[in-house]
Amino acid sequence: MKIQDANLSGKTVIIRCDYNVPINDNKISDDTRIKASLKTINYVLESANKVILLSHMGRIKTKEDTKKYSLRLVSERLSELLNKKVAFCNYDDDINKVIDENKIILFENTRFFDLDNKKESNCDLELSKYFASFGDIFINDAFGTCHRKNASNVGISKFLPSYNGFLVMDEINMLNNVKNDPKKPYIVIMGGAKVSDKISLIENIIKKADKLIISGGMAFSFLKIQNINVGKSIVDPDSFDFCREILSKHVDKIVLPLDVYVSKKFENGEKTLRNITDINDDEMALDVGEKTIDLYKNIINDANTIFFNGPVGVFEFENFSYGTKELLKMLKEKEDKVYIGGGDSLSAIKKFNISFKNVSTGGGASLEYIEGNKLPGIFEGE
Ligand code: ADP
Ligand code: MG
Repeated sequence: MKIQDANLSGKTVIIRCDYNVPINDNKISDDTRIKASLKTINYVLESANKVILLSHMGRIKTKEDTKKYSLRLVSERLSELLNKKVAFCNYDDDINKVIDENKIILFENTRFFDLDNKKESNCDLELSKYFASFGDIFINDAFGTCHRKNASNVGISKFLPSYNGFLVMDEINMLNNVKNDPKKPYIVIMGGAKVSDKISLIENIIKKADKLIISGGMAFSFLKIQNINVGKSIVDPDSFDFCREILSKHVDKIVLPLDVYVSKKFENGEKTLRNITDINDDEMALDVGEKTIDLYKNIINDANTIFFNGPVGVFEFENFSYGTKELLKMLKEKEDKVYIGGGDSLSAIKKFNISFKNVSTGGGASLEYIEGNKLPGIFEGE
């Protein structure tokens, strides 16, 4: 159900946004996601009585994390962008009073409830009911979490009439080009660090794709099971059996790195180029090398649809940004055929100042969507 179908007149509308923005030195270093939320918020403000905004930020495992991941700075930036007051509300404030006295209210990070039995991430329905009790209508506009059942997205939809916002609908429309009828050759590039989260998605992705480039942190489990020494590179031992099975079934489609830049430590330090079979025990691979990039170039040149999720190296470190930067430059030349998803993938684009037309804020969410899964945070039907 789309936001345009909702009767918002005079209502208190809860909007689940994605304000998982990077914060460095007590400053928001990239406000793209805050800006992206304005379309839905402004639309709702035209007719609704009040707007309550919810979002997660980071992962909350300890009390310490709550200091790092407060949404207070987001409320300040949002207020500047909207040119309107945005009240910030902690969960121990007198919430009803804050709502009575304000028109736009941002609640504190929903994942603060993860300190209590992971109530947000495990979709505790008591928590959902609590969130829902403050509003009349729910709009989910956070695509990046649509593949997860959380108390602040799917949970609330059990208690209130629920719709998807403009951001989610735009991302779905864009991704439908890849999901429904990708022009062939169709290639997928998967990198990044969330190996255990995403590795299982390979099974369905590879059925449709003509080639799957497995890169970044994702590659080393596939190399390790072939008895290649990956040293201290990131691996996911729980997935080794799965990797073996995938590799044996689809060996002709899978493309793994030929050479890598290694380091002794996870830092922006000295780098050494190694053939993939020459990594030493005390080294970790943090980027791909020139031979690998040449290989990618040939595959990308022939492709008619390219989906990219997950940087191919630790691009945050200047010395290990080569592969991701070169890849993005190649993809830019085929921009109309390229689709990019993922928070860190988008940060990389921004960092290297390369813009793309077809981008999605969700990494895991976009992969699950193009794989053909129904996402629980997308509300279908009438
Ligand atoms: P996205 O947010 O785009 O979905 P992920 O969250 O899965 O992507 O992964 C992004 C992270 O992967 C980046 O922060 C990057 O530093 C990291 N990464 C890429 N290659 C490697 C590698 N070889 N070893 C460790 N981390 C890597
Ligand atoms: Mg990420």
